[in-house]
Amino acid sequence: MRLVFLGAPGVGKGTQAERIAARFHLPKISTGDILREAVRNQTPLGLEAKACMEQGKLVPDSVVVGIVKSKLAEPGCAGGFLLDGFPRTVGQAEELAAMLGTTGRPLDRVLNVVVPRTDVVRRLSGRRSCPKCQAVYHVDFAPPKTEGVCDQCKSALVQRSDDRREAVETRLTVYEEQTAPLIAYYRQRGLLSDLDGKGPIDEVQGRLLNVLAAQGLA
Ligand code: AMP
Repeated sequence: MRLVFLGAPGVGKGTQAERIAARFHLPKISTGDILREAVRNQTPLGLEAKACMEQGKLVPDSVVVGIVKSKLAEPGCAGGFLLDGFPRTVGQAEELAAMLGTTGRPLDRVLNVVVPRTDVVRRLSGRRSCPKCQAVYHVDFAPPKTEGVCDQCKSALVQRSDDRREAVETRLTVYEEQTAPLIAYYRQRGLLSDLDGKGPIDEVQGRLLNVLAAQGLA
């Protein structure tokens, strides 16, 4: 299965991709996670990406395309993969098509996760994550057992710097202008399935599995 999870920031695509990856034993490639790790480790990639990320802007296409290209070349991706947060521009989508075209293994499906904008802002502003093990929580929808403390490794939870209100507004505008055109791009190519992302995580997961089943993928 070769899938892309598309959607505005905060629609829950990372959470859903994580679960599908675990269920079908597929590697999940999240460009946001890879970039955040690079920023934490202060690698040259991290230093290049940091300012864009903190402001909620996109990192240049050439940078993320390079990351994805090297990940997809790893043997673990030969049997399939999930892309979360990539592609985010039509240019990235074209680069991806070229990468997959050379291996004769095109995308099977693009899942467009849809949630109203007001819900997205609420989801992002309540999101907390563990700086050590990267577990993700939400103050209302998925709270940790002890407030502010990671269930898994007991570290103090933090808010992502780009989940602050100003950065959230920029990210949503960037999404509308640069990423939303991918919906039409993939629809025209017969690859898009819309997925209603409202409601509890398990419910969305059930709908997602139905979509995959209807496509003969699960
Ligand atoms: P995410 O965790 O997917 O919301 O990504 C966090 C941030 O990483 C984004 O706001 C961008 O600054 C950067 N980023 C992640 N994926 C991409 C991408 N495919 N293209 C450009 N920038 C990206």
